[in-house]
Amino acid sequence: MKPVGILALQGDFAEHGAAMRAHGIPVRELRVPADLEGLSGLILPGGESSTMLKLLRIQGLQVPMQALLESGLPVLATCAGLILLAREVIEPSQESFGLLDIKVCRNGYGRQICSGTFELSGELPAGTRAVFIRAPRVLEHGPEVEILARRDGDPVLLRRGPILAACFHPELEENHPVTAMFVAMLRARAESESPQEPGAHQAEMA
Ligand code: GLN
Repeated sequence: MKPVGILALQGDFAEHGAAMRAHGIPVRELRVPADLEGLSGLILPGGESSTMLKLLRIQGLQVPMQALLESGLPVLATCAGLILLAREVIEPSQESFGLLDIKVCRNGYGRQICSGTFELSGELPAGTRAVFIRAPRVLEHGPEVEILARRDGDPVLLRRGPILAACFHPELEENHPVTAMFVAMLRARAESESPQEPGAHQAEMA
């Protein structure tokens, strides 16, 4: 399987790498445009979205990254990563890739002191909890955006086609169901792309 690329300019890219390797998925850290070749998927980690934006520009990654995101690869965007993908970002407003039809408020759950572990409801095993750190709050979402999980009524895990976006940090916990969900998306995509084995074709012909 081709490696999954993890944007590695700032934030908790190392934790995402460890979470993927624990599932047997090869990873590549992304820092320059040449790193974007031949990937099976993409992870935009948590951290500080404004700093990531600055570094994306400095590294010449903004334009090729936009094209890669639009190519339909499976994408996991967590926290600052979700902010980078949003259609509209407020408080303060900032530029974004605009691929996910949501309006998001940065630090929408309050300051660092409001961070913590919270229970989720929705399409995840009962009792699933998740770590929120100065998390973004999704204020609006378009009709094509599926809500997979909520925290006290707010959407916090969203999917639109190959994009899975979380307001929290699945990579900080061992075996978080959201990590497994993304791994399943990667494997499904890799399988649909791999050429049929000659043996399988012959069996079909017999
Ligand atoms: N609040 C941060 C931002 O604006 C995101 C926090 C996080 O990624 N844990 O980018």
